[in-house]
Amino acid sequence: MTMPNFSHVRPRSLKEAIQHLSSDGARVHAGGTDLLGCLRDAVFETKKVVSLSGLKDLRSIRETKEGGLRIGTLATLTEIANSRIAKDRYPALAKAASEVASPQLRNQGTIGGNLCQKPRCWYYRGEFHCLRKGGNTCYAQQGENQFHCIFGSGHICYIVHPSDTAIALLVYEAALRIAGPKGEKLLPIEKFYVLPGQDVKKETVLKSNEILTEILLPPQPKELHSSYRKVRARQSWDFALAGVALALKFKEERVEKARVALGGAAPIPWRSKEAEQTLTGHRLSTESIARAVEAALRNAEPLEKNGYKVDLFRGILEEELRAVAKS
Ligand SMILES: Cc1cc2nc3c(=O)[nH]c(=O)nc-3n(C[C@H](O)[C@H](O)[C@H](O)COP(=O)(O)OP(=O)(O)OC[C@H]3O[C@@H](n4cnc5c(N)ncnc54)[C@H](O)[C@@H]3O)c2cc1C
Ligand code: SF4
Repeated sequence: MTMPNFSHVRPRSLKEAIQHLSSDGARVHAGGTDLLGCLRDAVFETKKVVSLSGLKDLRSIRETKEGGLRIGTLATLTEIANSRIAKDRYPALAKAASEVASPQLRNQGTIGGNLCQKPRCWYYRGEFHCLRKGGNTCYAQQGENQFHCIFGSGHICYIVHPSDTAIALLVYEAALRIAGPKGEKLLPIEKFYVLPGQDVKKETVLKSNEILTEILLPPQPKELHSSYRKVRARQSWDFALAGVALALKFKEERVEKARVALGGAAPIPWRSKEAEQTLTGHRLSTESIARAVEAALRNAEPLEKNGYKVDLFRGILEEELRAVAKS
């Protein structure tokens, strides 16, 4: 396929960028690693591409005065993976960023684009006019569904949410700042993503004239153990078949608070409240880990060709929890 024609603008202010986005069919361009592929493959069309590269304020990573972290959405994945504060205090995020795609894509790709990227379902990315593109069928439901979801489809659309960093941000309870024509708002990341049952044509609540500007991570207690683990079919350049992010806070050796999120599992970053509830109040033991793993996968709904994911999630969740127990 060839790249279609579109105009390209490079605004100098957020206000100007939002004005450009208010014209019909305009699209945000950050690093372009996902956007340009979507345009080339006609996943969607645009008349105007609005580059954010002139908005230097959106690039910084800095500590907040409360001891949290503020990340501008134009920070690259490499910058986040190498950030000293991220490595020390938010290791699941630094690890997730370091495992996205290849070094070239991490140098070019931004965290904002990582959170807003389009799904990878091969029917959606191909020439199929499926439900998500406004058609009336999901081709994956009875088709080649080995990489599709096991939770949250609503029996409508079976994409998996593709971002590694979103899974980590979910366990740190990050908030996202969104700028639009009416000003700014702050939204917990848990409310940012949209399930097919809410709207099958959208992945996030962002409107076409809104821009994700920053990510705010609250300060984390010293007793928090957090981690990210990704399993992929190939060791490089690949999305998660299965991912697990954990953030466990301990008090007197018992789990006081647990956050468990699964990637490659559902159309949104999937919080396993079942596992969290099962872990809370208990020591990490062989029995409590087994109960949490069982709870996390109890409501899985695998398709014909992705049943292996249930065992894969069981395995990596158990391994990750055992690693915490040993540490
Ligand atoms: C070969 C390959 C492998 C990949 N592997 C992985 C992987 O393993 N894990 C993973 O998580 N991702 C992966 N990606 C996906 C993606 O390219 C990167 O995650 C990258 O971070 C996207 O960022 P970008 O700045 O290039 O986004 P862009 O391509 O510029 O934008 C992506 C989308 O987000 C929108 N957008 C971007 N920034 C904003 C913003 N600030 N506000 C509102 N909307 C915005 C754009 O309009 C566009 O729709 C891969 C991509 C490729 C091509
Ligand atoms: S899983 Fe979703 S994106 Fe893929 S074919 Fe079905 S409706 Fe389309």
